Amino acid sequence: MTITGTQISYLHTCRRKLWLFSNQIQMEQTSEVVADGKFIGDTTYEQRPGKYIQVELPGVKIDFYDAKEGVVHETKRSAKMEQAHIAQVKYYLYVLEQNGIAANYGILEYPTQRHTERVDLTDEDRVAIESWKLEIEEIVGREACPPVINKPFCKQCSYFDFCYVGE
Ligand code: SF4
Repeated sequence: MTITGTQISYLHTCRRKLWLFSNQIQMEQTSEVVADGKFIGDTTYEQRPGKYIQVELPGVKIDFYDAKEGVVHETKRSAKMEQAHIAQVKYYLYVLEQNGIAANYGILEYPTQRHTERVDLTDEDRVAIESWKLEIEEIVGREACPPVINKPFCKQCSYFDFCYVGE
């Protein structure tokens, strides 16, 4: 099973979301991925495309890789899920490394909050990522969808109506 960066992010957000997404139950109309794509299209990256290349490897599509400096740039709308974003960028760095592409570090950017965060890949992360992959396979392979988690951020989730219908 090829693990994607999105699945790594969802593992650190909500296991139910991971299961729903991975089992092809996707809310296209309200997809956060679509919203993120639009947001990134609206940011300054469009004005500085020359510096970055797009890298596509099994499971990951990195839109802004600075090959000269070996830096992965990832832009997000809000830092609320920062731990999930950090995990996702660490996974990008890991997959690049596994494919023989030297990446030095990642930068998470939150333009609306004027916040950036450097992300490094450590030996501990390399071990953790292998266990995340196994955990994802276990969760996705379950017959039943994991329960709702009743967190405040559920209101911003594209599965909100699906999860809380009838409540
Ligand atoms: S609405 Fe909440 S419980 Fe449902 S998938 Fe999203 S984060 Fe998980």
